Amino acid sequence: MKVNPTYERSLEIHLHGPGPSDVPEEVLRAMSVPTLGHLDSEFIRIMDETQAMLRVLYQTKNRMTIPTSGTGSSGMETLVANLVQPQDKVIVVINGVFGGRIADEVSRFGAEVVPVDLEWGTTVTPDEVREVFSRKRCEVLFLVHAETSTGAYQQHMREIGEIVHQNGALFLVDTVTSLGGIEVKIDEWGIDAAYSGTQKCLSVPPGLSPVTLNERAMEKVRGRKVKSWYFDLGMIERYWNEGHQRKYHHTAPVNMIYALHEGLRLVLEEGLDTRFQRHRKNAAALQAGLQALGFTYLVRKEDERLPMLHAVYLPDGVEEGKLRTEIRSSYNIEIGGGLGKFAGLAWRVGLMGYSSTEDKIYRLLNAIGEVFKKHGIASDRAAGSQAAKAIYKDPERPG
Ligand SMILES: *Cc1c(COP(=O)(O)O)cnc(C)c1O
Repeated sequence: MKVNPTYERSLEIHLHGPGPSDVPEEVLRAMSVPTLGHLDSEFIRIMDETQAMLRVLYQTKNRMTIPTSGTGSSGMETLVANLVQPQDKVIVVINGVFGGRIADEVSRFGAEVVPVDLEWGTTVTPDEVREVFSRKRCEVLFLVHAETSTGAYQQHMREIGEIVHQNGALFLVDTVTSLGGIEVKIDEWGIDAAYSGTQKCLSVPPGLSPVTLNERAMEKVRGRKVKSWYFDLGMIERYWNEGHQRKYHHTAPVNMIYALHEGLRLVLEEGLDTRFQRHRKNAAALQAGLQALGFTYLVRKEDERLPMLHAVYLPDGVEEGKLRTEIRSSYNIEIGGGLGKFAGLAWRVGLMGYSSTEDKIYRLLNAIGEVFKKHGIASDRAAGSQAAKAIYKDPERPG
């Protein structure tokens, strides 16, 4: 069998789906640095710095802030395996695919799911949260901060956190798509535990899931039997947090941690505020461009739309899959299709991390405009990029 070396595949695809996002050169270079042993003192320094940078990003003092081995979903499994007990009642806000997955995961671990089923594309209100707690005593509330299947941006985080704590429950949050693109304030919002992923707004390849747990959550972890061996935080803590007495649990994915370290360094070099501002500004430009081309947003309330994920209905007469494939094959641009209820009806356009730049937005809107023109859907192929340009030129707009 003769196979060409992987590094000979040099075709560059511009990633504008719901993740993974484009990875900067520096991160790719970091991944190719020779592998160290997972208990090597030089590697331990990299681990310590990675944790310190994650705390800045998560805006937390939590000692238990580590990347778990596995994609974003491994963080979900870590939280459920360690914090949800079989007799627990767990409120899960379900307003899209990922809320649904959390409910599935919670029930697999034997707990009772108390679902808050919402129309997809909307988010939960503090009143709705109060109402569920008044009906039932629950130990945990779990929600998705940035629902990637619909583009919905959960508001009122601090207020929801307060309600959860008034009811003596733990507040668990999926921040896979939000971390690195919008504010995530773990301590200020009273989030007891959260997880994220490397492949969305951090612009690091898929493979790790940063998690953070406060002392309240860690109290619940300690002294109980965790159903998962691989994701047992009690054991993992002894590898990540024990100073020089570190104990091997499983071999850390060393080169992925190099990549995360470099990705986080780039995030902090840019600065959180500047980065969030960049995501907002570029989102406004993309939104103007997509609307000019005839797309409509699935999330109706404008302030509940995520800057990094634009879920849009296609104009009438568009063959969703066919055009998306054409954009991939003719322009080397990946766009996401609708997920769940929106399969075949919507596109999900990502502007995550390194994929969120003015240049990339023009390339994207021009490609869509050209394909639309070719298929007789739009008359003006440049309408999208012109509308975007007007946003960048508008001095009233922030950024
Ligand atoms: C992508 C995503 C996940 C799952 O992450 P994987 O890296 O695919 O395991 C979970 N939650 C949300 C909100 C996501 O967008």
